[in-house]
Amino acid sequence: MPRTDTLLADERLAAAGARLGRGLVKDAVQAVQQRIRSGELAPPDAVDAVLSVLPATASSLRPVLNATGVLVHTNLGRSPLSEVAVEAMVAAAGTTDVELDLLSGRRGPRGAGAIDALLAAVPAAGAAIVVNNCAAALALVATALGQDRELVIARGELVEIGDGFRIPELLAATGARLREVGTTNRVTLEDYRDAVHDETGAVLKVHPSNFVVRGFTRSVPVHELAGALGPDGVPLVADVGSGLLRPHPLLPDEPDLQSTLAAGADLVLASGDKLLGGPQAGLVLGRADLVARLRRHPLYRALRVDKTTLAALEATLRGPLPPVQQMLAADVETLRERARAIVARLGAAGVDASVVDAEARVGGGGAPEHPLPSAAVSLPASFAEPLRQGEPPVVGYLDDGRTLLDLRSLPPSSDEALAAAVLAVAAR
Ligand SMILES: *Cc1c(COP(=O)(O)O)cnc(C)c1O
Repeated sequence: MPRTDTLLADERLAAAGARLGRGLVKDAVQAVQQRIRSGELAPPDAVDAVLSVLPATASSLRPVLNATGVLVHTNLGRSPLSEVAVEAMVAAAGTTDVELDLLSGRRGPRGAGAIDALLAAVPAAGAAIVVNNCAAALALVATALGQDRELVIARGELVEIGDGFRIPELLAATGARLREVGTTNRVTLEDYRDAVHDETGAVLKVHPSNFVVRGFTRSVPVHELAGALGPDGVPLVADVGSGLLRPHPLLPDEPDLQSTLAAGADLVLASGDKLLGGPQAGLVLGRADLVARLRRHPLYRALRVDKTTLAALEATLRGPLPPVQQMLAADVETLRERARAIVARLGAAGVDASVVDAEARVGGGGAPEHPLPSAAVSLPASFAEPLRQGEPPVVGYLDDGRTLLDLRSLPPSSDEALAAAVLAVAAR
């Protein structure tokens, strides 16, 4: 039986230990010794056997090719980051000046660059802070403005975001009392007026991101509510969800940060990793005095983001269009051309592949009414599972007995890897 020490000292296993950590390698060594003991494996094969079961990287998260056609796919990590954002994260990953002013040598404001970039992108905001995600932003606002007070919210905006996450439950968990106004389908300015009194901490508007109510409906837009509450009245907080900075021509129903503040909201909240296309983060922008209250609240310390998130957020805001925005803007004819090029390669290798029209989605609970015209590579249904389990994994979807690989949710730079993954499955 080869000794544990001897195996760990082997050149190749020592190198793996330096890359993956000694613990992982030791566990694998012990599993292999067990196999030798049971006669399943010959002792000279020990090192090769250990290497064959070791993971490629220290983290088990793997890059996946997203061919689902859902641009912001929560199960696939939402927004893919732009190259500049990845570079900024790597640069900030070591020791960095996140809270040090290198000019004076004094402590500096945390993540000032990201905040400046947010304020430059949304000029209607007087100040901004960044927390872990939009749910954290809501929790912070509800706690700081609503604890032991009332939050006024329309019944039609008591939204479930996904995976059982219900905004009213989150708000109630902060100790705020919810004062629901209106009905499922209709709410008026009078409903809000009647509900606001001296116990009111804030009026909250939540964008119903992932559904629409049609027919006999009415809601009160931010500018009307703001006008009725007045500039010195109860704060008006709007959760816009998707994180669009400005109106987007392709998504006319998605609210954006700049317009919502300009319409009179005192604070706006959004996610960093939906349509903004950046890292997971919760953004709060608006009136400087309210933002200062949030920053001073003890809960802020528990919700703030780390240096790498601040770095990626700043780079996303200042850098070139992030992948999600590029995918959104991609012209369908270009997507078809990409699909034709891939299908030509697959067809030449004898794979039953064709180009089909498809409908992509924004995803992440955004713009449910806006299918995006797209193009997909159509393959036999039997390809779906081996593609998902391949290297790199490719996740498409099944439609009408075929596996479809939608190209709108994939950057063009992945086409080569996509074709290779399909060819690898076909070759088996
Ligand atoms: C997605 C969403 C949230 C939750 O955002 P996270 O960043 O996932 O915490 C909250 N409110 C609205 C309106 C949303 O669309």
